[in-house]
Amino acid sequence: MKKIRVAILTLIFVLGLPFLGFVGKGSGECKKIALTFDDGPHPRFTEQLLDGLKERDVHVTFFVTGEHAKLHPDVIKRMQDEGHLIGNHTYSHIQLTTSNREEFCRELRKTNEVLREITGIDTEYVRPPYGSWDCSLEKELNMFPVLWTVDPLDWCSENVECITNSVVGKIQENDIVLMHDYYDTSVTAALKIVDELTKRGFTFVTVDEILFN
Ligand SMILES: [Zn+2]
Repeated sequence: MKKIRVAILTLIFVLGLPFLGFVGKGSGECKKIALTFDDGPHPRFTEQLLDGLKERDVHVTFFVTGEHAKLHPDVIKRMQDEGHLIGNHTYSHIQLTTSNREEFCRELRKTNEVLREITGIDTEYVRPPYGSWDCSLEKELNMFPVLWTVDPLDWCSENVECITNSVVGKIQENDIVLMHDYYDTSVTAALKIVDELTKRGFTFVTVDEILFN
């Protein structure tokens, strides 16, 4: 009797192996993308976005300015509590030029301090305003720059459909989408994008999962 039971269990195990392999492979094949939101937090629109993301169980990445984080620490705390990733977008949205390297670094450090005070952790990711970056800063600041692959120019459009279509129409696996949680239309479009891309089998992850996986 015991032998039969062992034989049955062995058979189940052996037959189960390919199935486990299939499941493992399948889950690794989900199409990941990352939504990122710059310039916030905004006291109203960021909260709206967080509500919508929570309802949908979706996590995103926020690149906040130190100035806005200092004004709305409760929103930063909420981002952290709800599992979003928070990155640095300088203190006053300064653009790196050939003549302001020191000031740019000061702004990033100052923002890191503000974020550490609120979240208790160090921020590793930076989205340089306008994408202006200098690779030597990575070592100096011990920070990793995060640019983007899809830019719907949401900040200059009041047309939700237009913004939504320009992302949904061109999105591919592992894309990083640049948006802004500082506008009502962007937030509405972002939630529509989540709904549409979820239907098409995409999974939303924070940028670290795209950059380092
Ligand atoms: Zn910005």
